Amino acid sequence: MRCPKCNANLKQVEVEVHGAKSRATSYQCVKCDYFEFEPTSSQKIIEELRESPLKIKQKVVKLSQDRLGIYFNSNIIRSLGIKKGEEIYVSVPDKKHILIELEN
Ligand SMILES: [Zn+2]
Repeated sequence: MRCPKCNANLKQVEVEVHGAKSRATSYQCVKCDYFEFEPTSSQKIIEELRESPLKIKQKVVKLSQDRLGIYFNSNIIRSLGIKKGEEIYVSVPDKKHILIELEN
C-alpha cells in the first residue's frame, strides 16, 4: 500500500485501544504524518467498546426444586474472564439488587 499524500510506503501497525481487547490495524506513512485505520478492525473495536458497560436482560431459570438460576452469557464471561469452578460471592444489598463479586 502507498501513501495517498506522498506515495511512500504505508507501514501496518497494530494499535492498542484503551478498554478494548482486540487491536485496531492502522496504516502509517513512513515519510509523512498520514495515518488511517483499517475499517474492519476499527469497526470491531467500536462494537467491543459498545458492549463494555453491560446491562443484559435475562430470564431467571428453574434449576431444581426451589432453586433458581441465571446464565452468564458469553459477553459476561468474556468481560470478566470468569471460568467454571471459580468461586464468587453473592450478596443482596437490598430488594432490587444482587451483587456478584469475583474472588480475584
Ligand atoms: Zn506519506
